[in-house]
Amino acid sequence: MSIATSKPLYSGKAKDIFETEDPNILRAYFRDSATAFNAQKKGEIQDKGKVNATISALLFQLLEQSKIKTHFVKQISDRELLVKKVSIIPLEIIVRNIAAGSLCKRLGIKEGKLLKEPIAEFSYKNDTLGDPLLTRKYITSALEITNNETIDYLISESLKINEIFKQFFLGIGIKVVDFKLEFGYDKDKNLILADELSPDNFRFWDAKTNEKLDKDRFREDLGNVEGAYQEMLKRVKEGTKQDHKFQASTLNAQSFKVRVQVLPKQDILDPQGQAVEKALKSLGFTEIKDVKIGKEVVFEIKNGSKDIAKSQVKEMCEKLLANPVIEDYKIDIN
Ligand code: 5GP
Repeated sequence: MSIATSKPLYSGKAKDIFETEDPNILRAYFRDSATAFNAQKKGEIQDKGKVNATISALLFQLLEQSKIKTHFVKQISDRELLVKKVSIIPLEIIVRNIAAGSLCKRLGIKEGKLLKEPIAEFSYKNDTLGDPLLTRKYITSALEITNNETIDYLISESLKINEIFKQFFLGIGIKVVDFKLEFGYDKDKNLILADELSPDNFRFWDAKTNEKLDKDRFREDLGNVEGAYQEMLKRVKEGTKQDHKFQASTLNAQSFKVRVQVLPKQDILDPQGQAVEKALKSLGFTEIKDVKIGKEVVFEIKNGSKDIAKSQVKEMCEKLLANPVIEDYKIDIN
């Protein structure tokens, strides 16, 4: 396909959009320019355009393999993607797993709080108004942007995308804190995922150290902004290369049987265990000692990878099934 090189059809904060010979296909050129706080802060992040174009291409392909419809067609250079032309719905759908950014400011919650369940919220895509948070009725009855059915679809599709990303990024040692999505209608009136998927519109934290590996490094002047973007590119490349297994896995999830054994730690007082020990001894079983009473939790879990399933069960133990301060747990998964 030959590509037009004329003036951009549209020039955004970090991308220029050009027409191509095909009226239904556009070319997105990713620049290095960076903005924050509704463009009040401006700068450049060296090679950001290359990083964001490539990460976006890899993540759109990952989603397509999990049957999510997107505008991605192909990557044609290190900074350029061909994408389907869509009519964008002027909504930003923000998905949050961990409290950060505007949620913390708005609600006074401490950054890093794990949310009880993922949240999908809407903002009005309008720079002049500063992208205000919207309620359902604001969307359907005040702005009349779309209807309830479409809102439901956007929420369920965004939460599905969140599950795919959480699982993929866990495999490359990254926590997906939050991200922003945009959707639009293609020429056949299909509602598909558009825009980009990159450290510009995601918060990524290193799973072990909580180091920020996204645009917050630029927003908050944390330094090593370029290094963080390059690190994310490296990990996403590794994850998508090594993991054809992952891609198949999201489609062909297997079922694993899980058995979690929870026992009081050796040095923790266990009154129930002591009572049973005393009773057994009084029945003549004097040779026993160190009785501990615990619990066993059994369930099935579906996942394409046993390792990822095991790490999810470990997280369940740390957060709910055991009290890691006073209890040990053992996971059997088959
Ligand atoms: P917050 O509402 O906390 O500022 O942002 C939540 C998430 O959505 C963050 O990952 C942030 O990068 C992304 N996000 C929110 N608004 C925008 C926006 O206007 N542009 C981009 N690129 N990302 C946004």
